[in-house]
Amino acid sequence: MLGLMMEKPLLVGSLLEHAEQFHPKQQVISRMSDGSIVAHRYKELAQRTRQLANALLALGVKPGDRVATLAWNTHRHLELYYACAGIGAICHTINPRLHPDQLTYIIEHAEDTLLFFDIDLAPLAAKLTGARAGLMRWVVLGNEADREQTTLPDCLAYETLLSAQNDLFTWPELDERSACSLCYTSGTTGNPKGVLYSHRSTVLHALVAALPDCAALSTHSVVMPAVPMFHVSAWGMPYAALLTGAKLVMPGNGLDGASLVDLMQREKVTFALGVPTIWQSVWNHLEKHPVKLDELREIFVGGAALDKTLLTQFATIGVSVLQAWGMTELSPIGVVNRPLADSAAQSPVSVQQERLKQGRGIWGMQLRLVDDADQALAWDGSSTGHLHVQGHWATERYFKQSESACTADGWFATGDIAHIDPRGFLKITDRSKDVIKSGGEWISSLELELAAQSHDAVAQAAVIAIPDARWSERPLLIVTLNEGCAIDLSDMRQHLKDQVPGWWLPERLEVIEQMPLGATGKIHKQSLRERFV
Ligand code: ADP
Repeated sequence: MLGLMMEKPLLVGSLLEHAEQFHPKQQVISRMSDGSIVAHRYKELAQRTRQLANALLALGVKPGDRVATLAWNTHRHLELYYACAGIGAICHTINPRLHPDQLTYIIEHAEDTLLFFDIDLAPLAAKLTGARAGLMRWVVLGNEADREQTTLPDCLAYETLLSAQNDLFTWPELDERSACSLCYTSGTTGNPKGVLYSHRSTVLHALVAALPDCAALSTHSVVMPAVPMFHVSAWGMPYAALLTGAKLVMPGNGLDGASLVDLMQREKVTFALGVPTIWQSVWNHLEKHPVKLDELREIFVGGAALDKTLLTQFATIGVSVLQAWGMTELSPIGVVNRPLADSAAQSPVSVQQERLKQGRGIWGMQLRLVDDADQALAWDGSSTGHLHVQGHWATERYFKQSESACTADGWFATGDIAHIDPRGFLKITDRSKDVIKSGGEWISSLELELAAQSHDAVAQAAVIAIPDARWSERPLLIVTLNEGCAIDLSDMRQHLKDQVPGWWLPERLEVIEQMPLGATGKIHKQSLRERFV
């Protein structure tokens, strides 16, 4: 027998409607490309979003069309998220840090019909005019004065488009399975692949992201996503904040330590999110220019592993560092590390070890570990294998691909290597493509990197496999150093020997000036392989 409850589709637009109705005065603060800071209330944001929806329709955008953004975190980008989704179109967020050839590929592949760009990204946009020539229009996220600064053909100005429209719009009732946004993976191997999120997956992800054991958001929260809206929807915060009525603080292109600290202090941010390198630069700035961040309670670190230095540094100013693991294909949240009720009762060493794990499962996302022969592995904290996931906000197939991205029995193979302990804490030990197989056993490049990074002289560390006649592969450790520091192989081996098994110790150390970084700020190991292997 079927239940007799109302069937209301889960739509992204309902988050904006809720914020407008119940949190009309709550603010969205944006740092614009010229450094100015502007405030909008959710009521105003909703009105502007309806104007934008009318403008998109007037420009001929139809349901299912892809509308691209080359933009930082600001209220305008938020309006684009909601207006595109609201009319049944798809907001395609593009990472400006990708190579222009990859950007062109992505725009062509997505068949974008419009591209909205921030004024400081105009020089990059100008390099892309060959993409979808004649089939795509350009809109600068600014006014007429901004438009006059660009050299793009027939470019439109965002504020002019909005002011030509009224703010009356009735959002259509869409199928909750309709697509609302599109994000391409950074494609470290092969071409980037598009992940097409649905209204349903996005709303469910936002609901769970807001829970106390995830981001713990409420109308009392002041949230600053220091992770860009082009990096997997700023980890869902543009949705979860409106769902809970939290204040949103958008840092724009000011992702350096000084700008972030300034904004956090000024807007009394309570909770902020970003990749480890962002928090390293925030810490470096705080060390040189100490200021009180009294309201800041927690920061979320994800996208790459959290190291203990960051955990202990922020603890000294009373800020708790929480780790989450995820990926573009998971919208992105997969697991979150919040201490359990009995966590603090463990020894200090165990508490720290537990905090450095990626986290525990959350409702809606199932996990499994399998060996090379696809046999399930025990959750005993040591059996290490391939991590598979299944869930309401996990990808089933990539955009425009006819084949499923999953195994025959419906699991998504993450490409990560992990173990899970009996308390359900997941520990990522490697990417399967980065793992080092030495004498038939795995060496975790991630653990070696974290151990090397804890040396005072080391700024960043990367470990790659190099061929070895006897062991088949051995680890090569590559580091960048902190200012005025030096290190040699024997110092490093001495430092590592109590932290990792003896047979993991590298026989070769390379010190380089600068780590090659990929488009999402992670170390680009392929470049290191090309250079050193
Ligand atoms: P890309 O793969 O394009 O760099 P993603 O942001 O989707 O972009 O990256 C997902 C991958 O990042 C994961 O599969 C995992 O390898 C890594 N990752 C994400 N969060 C963590 C974390 N907390 N610890 C270790 N690795 C992480």
